[in-house]
Amino acid sequence: MSDSTITPNYSQLASKLAACEGLSLQDIALADLTTLRLGGQPRLTAVASTPEAAVQALRLCDAAQVPVLAIGGGSNLVVADGPLELVAVVMDFDEVRVDADSGIVRAEAGAVWDDVVAASVEAGLGGIECLSGIPGSAGATPVQNVGAYGAEIADVLTRVRLYDRHSDTVEWVEASALELSYRYSNLKFTQRGLVLDVEMRLSTDGLSAPLRFGQLARELGVAEEEDTPRRPVAEVRTAVLALRRGKGMVLDDADPDTYSAGSFFTNPIIDSADVDTVRANVAALVGDEEAAQMPVFASGEGRAKLSAAWLIERAGFHRGHPGPDAPARLSTKHTLALTNRGSATSAELVALAREVRDGVRERLGVTLEPEPIWVGVGIDDV
Ligand SMILES: Cc1cc2nc3c(=O)[nH]c(=O)nc-3n(C[C@H](O)[C@H](O)[C@H](O)COP(=O)(O)OP(=O)(O)OC[C@H]3O[C@@H](n4cnc5c(N)ncnc54)[C@H](O)[C@@H]3O)c2cc1C
Repeated sequence: MSDSTITPNYSQLASKLAACEGLSLQDIALADLTTLRLGGQPRLTAVASTPEAAVQALRLCDAAQVPVLAIGGGSNLVVADGPLELVAVVMDFDEVRVDADSGIVRAEAGAVWDDVVAASVEAGLGGIECLSGIPGSAGATPVQNVGAYGAEIADVLTRVRLYDRHSDTVEWVEASALELSYRYSNLKFTQRGLVLDVEMRLSTDGLSAPLRFGQLARELGVAEEEDTPRRPVAEVRTAVLALRRGKGMVLDDADPDTYSAGSFFTNPIIDSADVDTVRANVAALVGDEEAAQMPVFASGEGRAKLSAAWLIERAGFHRGHPGPDAPARLSTKHTLALTNRGSATSAELVALAREVRDGVRERLGVTLEPEPIWVGVGIDDV
């Protein structure tokens, strides 16, 4: 991080970055790099075509005491409007190696995640088919332990090749050292390192991971009594992509419901002792019958996970809120996605996020936490 007494010399830094093999300086605003299509102009944007170049970019920025933002697919970022005092480093190295015999898959950080899933499924490997259609890069998947439809990267990740900024070393780090948990790892919010490669061990019998998600199991015709059902990987990928498309959760240039950062809030995890209070708040607002249907999942000793989307809807925020003329609104397919209809500013999106968070807190007594990474702006700022 930069020291306020030092004024970074960006032109000197630009010359050093430009001289690095595998780095190219480009004039790109963050709005062109994020799926929300929001965000101002960084001081510099360096595109790294090799892992070595990405590491070198971070080293030079750290030496100049300049803030850095690593960017893969920009699909989990909320970035401030206006000029940004940082250097954006874009991961643009994307080799993928799939070993169908051993089930080992290695992907460089900049590989498009869904290409990695497609190649693995094509090779008949199982374990990541439920993560089909998640936007972004392979290198970012451990950062928030991406997950969907009952699976998460933690289930299959063996290790990552990490550049550690504090020790200035590159080494393979076991997945167990990343503290992977629900939408979290010790790489999220910490900027401690740069993932250069991910390695996964997948199953080689052509079948998916056990189907744990009711909606997906129903889509695949799984009978209630079937114990740990598994299906051919390609079948599961097709079903997941269809479900995701229906919710605007697969990027599509033609569909502004996908100009988002995916699920904007994590599912809240609360003390089990507080569940009845939340249920009573729901009942007071929308009636006992609705309150009885409140989804509650066990989440470790004495903790319960609620559904953020369900709470948002019960608090009175419907799809498309606040209405068809608003430049920032909830997706018309899914209340958990905040979308930029094309002309929104970050400030407008942040105001919408705050309105939803505050509304759910005031009416139901639950504080929703945003899932994406915030850059230069916070939910209470503008
Ligand atoms: C339509 C849509 C649907 C989504 N669905 C899901 C879903 O089902 N499940 C889910 O978990 N997420 C989902 N997301 C969120 C997002 O796609 C994931 O979090 C994804 O892994 C982000 O990857 P990225 O490359 O775009 O990361 P970016 O947005 O570029 O970066 C996110 C964070 O990771 C850091 N980062 C990026 N690359 C690296 C690296 N190589 N090393 C270290 N840090 C890095 C960045 O600095 C930043 O802090 C969705 C998003 C969208 C837009």
